[in-house]
Amino acid sequence: MKNNLHLNQLDILTFAKSATSISGDDALDLFPRLKGEDLRESPNEIVHWSLRGEEIKSEDGENQIWLHLQAKTQLTLTCQRCLAPANFDLGVSRSFRFVADEQVALAQDDENEEDLLVIDRKFNSLELIEDELIMSMPIVPRHPSCHNAYLASLAEENAQSTEFERPNPFAVLEQLKKPTNH
Ligand SMILES: [Zn+2]
Repeated sequence: MKNNLHLNQLDILTFAKSATSISGDDALDLFPRLKGEDLRESPNEIVHWSLRGEEIKSEDGENQIWLHLQAKTQLTLTCQRCLAPANFDLGVSRSFRFVADEQVALAQDDENEEDLLVIDRKFNSLELIEDELIMSMPIVPRHPSCHNAYLASLAEENAQSTEFERPNPFAVLEQLKKPTNH
């Protein structure tokens, strides 16, 4: 249920205190930076996401505001080995604790390993989902088992060449025809 919540202007405090859970399946169009990474132009890409707010009383009696985020989708990226399209499943599951302001966040950031964000009555949760999915993208996209050895060698040569010249296939043939002198 979205309950008429505006995902780009979420009142985090109310969301957490009322322990609200929302989820959705939205087109990649809603996430333009993520969509920009995808090679496909088909409208079938869906981002599955869910957000859950939670208020937890800590041991020292402090009320902590939490947001739990899960999201997954599939992107088609360029395999950096063979330069052909490759599908990747992205998935994230993270929890964020919201603190009063930037100073508290900075002060507490070194003390613990929690992910801290500043409380915002108009928090853009769509951007957070998008950021997390982008960070979960492979740094060097590759087919899990890339068998295209010829294209791979071309890609490597291209990467090494500063002039980005494609090797002349006839020159390659000449090399192959040369008798080897042992
Ligand atoms: Zn490949």
